[in-house]
Amino acid sequence: MLDMLSDDRRLHLLGLDRVALRDALAAMDEPPFRADQILDWIYAKDAESFAVMSNLSKRLRERLERDAVISRGRVAAESVASDLTRKLLMTWPDGQSVETVWIPESDRHTVCVSSQVGCPVGCRFCASGLDGVKRNLTAGEIVEQVWRVRRLVAEHGPADEQGKPARLTNVVFMGMGEPLANYDNVIAAIRVLNAPWGLNIGARRITVSTVGLPQQIRRLAREGVQINLALSLHAPEQALRRELIPWGKVPIEDLLSACDDFFQQTGREITLEYVLLEGVNMAPTHAARLAAICRRLRCNVNLLRYNPVAGLPYTRPSAEAAQAFQRELRERGVNAHLRRSRGRDVDAACGQLRRRAVEAAEAG
Ligand code: SF4
Repeated sequence: MLDMLSDDRRLHLLGLDRVALRDALAAMDEPPFRADQILDWIYAKDAESFAVMSNLSKRLRERLERDAVISRGRVAAESVASDLTRKLLMTWPDGQSVETVWIPESDRHTVCVSSQVGCPVGCRFCASGLDGVKRNLTAGEIVEQVWRVRRLVAEHGPADEQGKPARLTNVVFMGMGEPLANYDNVIAAIRVLNAPWGLNIGARRITVSTVGLPQQIRRLAREGVQINLALSLHAPEQALRRELIPWGKVPIEDLLSACDDFFQQTGREITLEYVLLEGVNMAPTHAARLAAICRRLRCNVNLLRYNPVAGLPYTRPSAEAAQAFQRELRERGVNAHLRRSRGRDVDAACGQLRRRAVEAAEAG
């Protein structure tokens, strides 16, 4: 698993698992335990440079300086909302950028990561899908987003009563991109996030959100990692779903069987994500159909009031309308939660910060 970009042949260490790092070091005539020392510096000690790795020989440090990098992105823009949600625009050496968001919520700190530059899915209501997909992120670029936000959480998050720094607790693949369309890099990144020698984040605290690729859902169910799966449904009937998600050609029934298989294999309940769009997907008939889906599949439902995107024809429903829809679902026995929108004052709808930066670059 060599994690490289075409214009930079140096190894991106955040994208390597332990075996790959041992192999890379073996090629430099270094023994396997060096890999553990380096991983300890990167993940347990948050080292940003090889210079501080005092238990490595000078020769190896010089070799690593020449042939490898720990991180390769830079934070090109950053904004903090009044609710302390912090959004980073991460830019890679090829000039492409993605958004990464830290969402603090009492002692829970979640990072929302991107898996692709842009998105192939093109949901009609989303800024990220407006320009299609530019490229997949590498495993290293995915891990790097989490690694950086973990440090931010420790530096800026509230310490606990004993004075211990705040800790990143959860990872959600809900940023730009369709994670299951970049399957190999996403699963490689998840293994690093989850590994005790890596970021050591429990699998049950990692969620992959997909618009629905049945084959990949079934494959993910068999990876042996007990992560959570969220299906972006957004409409309980095929025609409306096709209209909102042009990529969503797979029959809903096929998606539900794949999700059911995921539940059977992993024992993890599925979350259905449902963006509430005023006048579009919130009628009582939609609630009734959604409830029927929830009777068929072991799942809970996350309702999210839409964050409007300039130039797109969708409207955010009132809090009362959203609550009424939630009530309709609950009365039909559905475990439905109405999620708070976070960071609304900082281009919080997915893809807006990047879009603004791209437009500014094009204009200037
Ligand atoms: S909502 Fe998600 S899946 Fe849809 S276009 Fe935006 S990033 Fe892609």
